[in-house]
Amino acid sequence: MATMNERTDQWLAWDRTHCWHPFTEQGAWCDPSHEPLVIERGEGVWLWDSEGRKYFDGNASIWTNLHGHAHPEINAALTAQLQSISHSSYLGLANPRASELAARLCELFPKNTLERVFFSDDGSTAVECALKMALQYRMQTGEPERTRILAFDQAYHGDTMGAAALGGVSRFFERFRSFGLAVDFIASADELPNVDAKRYAAVVIEPIVQGVNQMRIWSVGMLRALREWCDAHDVHLILDEVMTGFGRTGKLFACEHEQVIPDFLCLAKGLTGGYLPLAATLTTEKIYRAFLGKENVFYYGHSFTANQLGCAAALANLEILRRDYPAEVLAEKSAVFGEILQRGLADLAQVYQVRHCGMLAGIELREVDGRSFSDEDGIGAKVCVKAREYGLITRPILDTIVLMPPLCSTEEELEFAVSALRTAISAVFFSKK
Ligand SMILES: *Cc1c(COP(=O)(O)O)cnc(C)c1O
Repeated sequence: MATMNERTDQWLAWDRTHCWHPFTEQGAWCDPSHEPLVIERGEGVWLWDSEGRKYFDGNASIWTNLHGHAHPEINAALTAQLQSISHSSYLGLANPRASELAARLCELFPKNTLERVFFSDDGSTAVECALKMALQYRMQTGEPERTRILAFDQAYHGDTMGAAALGGVSRFFERFRSFGLAVDFIASADELPNVDAKRYAAVVIEPIVQGVNQMRIWSVGMLRALREWCDAHDVHLILDEVMTGFGRTGKLFACEHEQVIPDFLCLAKGLTGGYLPLAATLTTEKIYRAFLGKENVFYYGHSFTANQLGCAAALANLEILRRDYPAEVLAEKSAVFGEILQRGLADLAQVYQVRHCGMLAGIELREVDGRSFSDEDGIGAKVCVKAREYGLITRPILDTIVLMPPLCSTEEELEFAVSALRTAISAVFFSKK
């Protein structure tokens, strides 16, 4: 690596001494041989580190960014909001940006479906809210025995205790299983006939694609079948669109692929265009009404609920989506990305499968004979570290490389990202032989 400038040295010294990173083995992180990148600046799809090196933001800053960094319109919306106020409490007070954002979000769905918005801070809390609402609803509507939640194997819904209880990825969640909620897991909608529906308040799913499960795409019709089962058995459907929302899967929301409307919709990551932590849980007027009355208050809230800066960024995001990403543009973007992925990666011997949907892809690497690599090889991580040398930042999930470019990526930028990944994969396997 290039010699570091003094500022980088200082930041890394403080980091190694005082910081603790998410999903990170800190021993390896702090090892002197590991030189983390310090991201200092962003513009469009590009990130610059403190050494002045430029990278494509290949996972949209952990699946959040839609329109690029330092977007002029979102920046302007935030600058304008700063002149008025950054934050005021939403407990006992309203605010203009949150009022408008709630109205705009509900307008994205057919009338008399999702009509109420509860704000929180991130994907985990959006799910947490839906869970608590779903359980409390049953207590207030004469079905207190519906205490269980149905979830899916390999699911990911966040890391706070409630959301983690819904997680099906054992390496993340197994050790906390006994502390959590009453959750049962099924592999797919095919198992629904064996489920004792009346014990369940709700079922929760990542529609169309399970992100953390290495970008696995559900079979066509599965979401629709789940909605029909929920209707038949009066079980609420919670859709976690924290990752899939806002154009990511080639439609504005993933549930549109199968014309499904949930009872609860969880939104976060892309809600502010990837600028600020803000989340929303949408639900129906029917569910909302069960919380009227002194005994039925929903005792839930965070200090920064409905933060005005976050809501201002979200409004700018929705305006850009409305204006620049009609259905045909999203469809066209998806087709172009799919074609670049196929052309750029599919012929590599170690590329086992390219799972693609909209502006997301999981590129699964395996041995040439189709067996998985052993864990110790850490192939996915090696490829991503290598890719930095070619100007691409992304993260693997096991040996699946995630490419989740910002929606605004041009064809040329997508070509760059895929070609950097191709070079990195080739380099890792060439040196292995
Ligand atoms: C990222 C994610 C979450 C958690 O969101 P945070 O903002 O990280 O708390 C929940 N569900 C899905 C599907 C996600 O991708």
